[in-house]
Formats: sequence, C-alpha cells, structure tokens
Amino acid sequence: MSPRLSTTLDISRAAPKAFALPNLSGMTRAELRQALIEAGVAAPDKAKMRAGQIWGWIHHHGVTDFDAMTNIAKETRAALAECFSLARPEITSRQQSSDGTIKWLIRLAPGVEVETVFIPDVAHSGALCVSSQVGCTLNCSFCHTGTQGLVRNLTAGEIVAQVQIARDDLGDWHTPMEGRQLVNIVFMGMGEPLYNLESVAAALDIISDNEGIAISRRRITVSTSGVTPQLQALGETTGAQLAISLHATRNALRDQLVPINKRYPLAELMAAIRAYPGLSNARRVTFEYVMLKGVNDTPADAKALVKLISGIPAKINLIPFNPWPGAPFECSDRATIDAFATILKRAGYASPVRKPRGRDILAACGQLKSESEKLRASARRRPSPAPAATAD
Ligand code: SAH
Ligand code: SF4
Repeated sequence: MSPRLSTTLDISRAAPKAFALPNLSGMTRAELRQALIEAGVAAPDKAKMRAGQIWGWIHHHGVTDFDAMTNIAKETRAALAECFSLARPEITSRQQSSDGTIKWLIRLAPGVEVETVFIPDVAHSGALCVSSQVGCTLNCSFCHTGTQGLVRNLTAGEIVAQVQIARDDLGDWHTPMEGRQLVNIVFMGMGEPLYNLESVAAALDIISDNEGIAISRRRITVSTSGVTPQLQALGETTGAQLAISLHATRNALRDQLVPINKRYPLAELMAAIRAYPGLSNARRVTFEYVMLKGVNDTPADAKALVKLISGIPAKINLIPFNPWPGAPFECSDRATIDAFATILKRAGYASPVRKPRGRDILAACGQLKSESEKLRASARRRPSPAPAATAD
C-alpha cells in the first residue's frame, strides 16, 4: 500500500467505516490496479481490465456507489464495497457570489479544511481554482493564505476530490465537452503546488486521463511563487501550463512581497522559466502581477517588466489586489492599472486585467483562508508593514 493510502487511514481512524477504507476515487490507474490485486478483488491477470472498468465508472460517470457499476458482477461489487470506499469528503459550506462564483469549504479530516472556487465565465470557459496545500509556508505579504501557515500537503486524492465535488455540483458528469461548465483548472487556490509536486503530478494524471474527466493538460495551469529548482520537473512530469507569481521586477522589492525570492532570486528564476519544457508562442508562460498601490505600479515598473521578460513567450495577468481584513496594502487605481497595461500591450504582450470574482464571499485570489483557521485565529492578526515603494 502506498504511503498516501496509509495517511488517509490514519487521519480517518475515528470516522465512519466508509471513510476508514482506502478510497479508490483518488488513485492513479497503477495504484488502482495494485489495490485491487492486494485486496484479492482481482487476479493479477485480470486487474488491468477490472481497473479499467472501475476507472470509467469513477472518472467518466462520477459514481460514488459500487452498486451503480452495472457491468460488474454483484459479488464483485460487494467485495469492492467491503474493501474500499468511493465517498467524497464532506462539504462544510457552499457559498455563491452575486457574480456566480461558487466557493466550497471542504473538510478533509477533523480540523483540516480546504477551499475550492469555481469561476464561471462567458462561452463555457469556467475555471476551477484548486488548492494544493492546507495553508502555505511562504508568507507572501499581500496574501491571506500566507497568514495561515501550513497545516499540511494535500494528497492526490484530495486534489482530485475538489474537481469531483465541483462536477457533482455543476452537473458536469455525462455532459459532452462542448456543454461542460468546468473546462479549465488552475492551481491558484491555497498553497504552493511545487512544494507538493508529487501529489499535484498524480492528480494531473488522473484529471487529464482521456477515459475519465479528460481535461487536457493544456487547460491545466500550475501557478508558483517561484520554486525555481522544481520548474523543470513540473514541466517534465505534468506538461502543465506554467504561471509565475512575479509581482516585482527588482530583487529588493520582490524579497519583501514574495519572500521565497531571497532563496531563488530573479536571475535564477528567469533562467529556469526560459528553460521550461515546451515553452513556445502556442504555450506561453503567464506572469501574474498583483497591482499594489504605490508599491509596484508605476510606468517605470511596467517598462522594467517588459525588459525582464524580453524574449520569453508570455502573457501577463494583471491582478487588482484583493483586500482582506488587516491587509497592509491597497489596490492600485483603475487609471494606474490601465496605464500599466497599455505599456505592456504596446510592447506586444497580451495583458488582461483580471476581473475580481467572488470578492463578496472572500473567494478571490489571495483571499482564501479556511473557516476553521479563521475561527481559531480571529483574535490573532499578523501585523505586516507595507514594503517601501522604492526599494532599490
Ligand atoms: N502559491 C501559488 C499559487 C496560489 S496563489 C502562487 O503563489 O503562485 C494564486 C495567485 O494569487 C498568485 O499569483 C498570488 O500571488 C495571487 N494572490 C495572492 N494574494 C492575492 C491578493 N490578496 N490579491 C490578488 N492576488 C493575490
Ligand atoms: Fe503561498 Fe501563493 Fe499565497 Fe505566496 S501567494 S503565500 S506562495 S499561496
């Protein structure tokens, strides 16, 4: 049994039987095959075929009950139910914003909760923003998640469960590709995906599988604050689209906004981005740039950005800063953001200004922070002074 499975068993010790059993719905094909053999539910020579059938039920049809697997003999279904679970984690809350954004708070274990956000869009291009960790160790000074610290990494199953829960809610199972609501996935929820690359890569294998959820790797974007040594491995093992949370073009300022920059400064980061596997005009890197009033938003900053990324096939997402209680920043004015975007556009870069979504339910970028933590820490505010506007 893989270490991931034993973790699930440990944290569920006091839970009902269905949760104490290994859950098949978050396993890769290879893990599923192995689990069937080890449980004696399939002979080694039949395991591939049996795993294929079960895979289709779980990931194409979205079933959560072995009895729905009608092309599998009744006794086999009973044996499966004895050994395994297909249960989804519990949804502790579901909030819908006035703009249609949906935020689920998902309970993975006692005191371990994670947030997932669906952002609907025009022309059926809705995106699901998934979390890769509960909390984050990285403490970016403008990010609400960073004030939480790390609770733990998510397993691949827990990442996949976020997609399954969204598809349950949106009615996306059995919907032909053209009619689906959820067609893009972005790892822009809680956590730093590259500090949990093994689980993120396994989750991508499951989500992109053609006989399952079948969301192409080109529609899955992994956003990182810049864990430079892992970029190559991300590209090689996942084929995911790359997004980099840049936010500053000078080390002195980026050190304050994105403190991991002290470990992996800009020159190293940019070199690793230039070497990202498969980068081309058709597969551009996205630079995310949060607009902070008086901090990183001048025309000189925009010009420095153009210079820094010169020669890299890229687009730039300008993200208006989303406020959260106690945040030490303000969002740049609309005119300042527009002037910044114009400089990037003149230099030839697509530079959409991201429309803030779900602000009324604290579901926008950087506002995620689980309810359980909010309760525990309601009195504890992290005082964090705004970085100087002219850092170097
Ligand atoms: N840890 C990863 C992915 C999650 S954060 C990363 O940092 O890239 C997803 C995006 O939201 C990042 O670009 C992050 O910089 C941005 N973000 C965080 N807090 C924000 C805030 N308060 N307003 C706007 N964007 C924010
Ligand atoms: Fe972590 Fe990303 Fe927030 Fe930074 S921006 S604290 S890396 S989640």
